[in-house]
Amino acid sequence: MPGSIDIETICVAKGLRITEQRRVIARVLSEALDHPNVDVLFARASAIDPGISIATVYRTVRLFEEAGVIDRHDFGDGKARYEAAPDAHHDHLIDVETGNVIEFVDPELEALQRQIAERLGFRLVDHRMELYAVKVS
Ligand SMILES: [Zn+2]
Repeated sequence: MPGSIDIETICVAKGLRITEQRRVIARVLSEALDHPNVDVLFARASAIDPGISIATVYRTVRLFEEAGVIDRHDFGDGKARYEAAPDAHHDHLIDVETGNVIEFVDPELEALQRQIAERLGFRLVDHRMELYAVKVS
């Protein structure tokens, strides 16, 4: 679940150098509940520290992503979105009308995916499941 992971602490544990601006961006990412894109991260980070440039946000998310601290998602709108790398696996449902992202875990779906891999002669090590949906009113 985003919002519950302290990215700065993980960065320190991984030996990443944390500058003041990186700390702000890490905090914004840690507190995000909505899988923000770079534009949104920039707006939130520069509201805290007006000295932060969008180039710094781009560089920092790339650094965090390469270090495995955050996950990058492509939810089909052409803009990469980010979340703190979760402790426990979850999948995503994307509301294609609003861009809202809902997280879910389904044990039957997890088991089914393992079975499919096994049937094909593989052992599943990871997967991504994205459901694109419109809200039924
Ligand atoms: Zn998520």
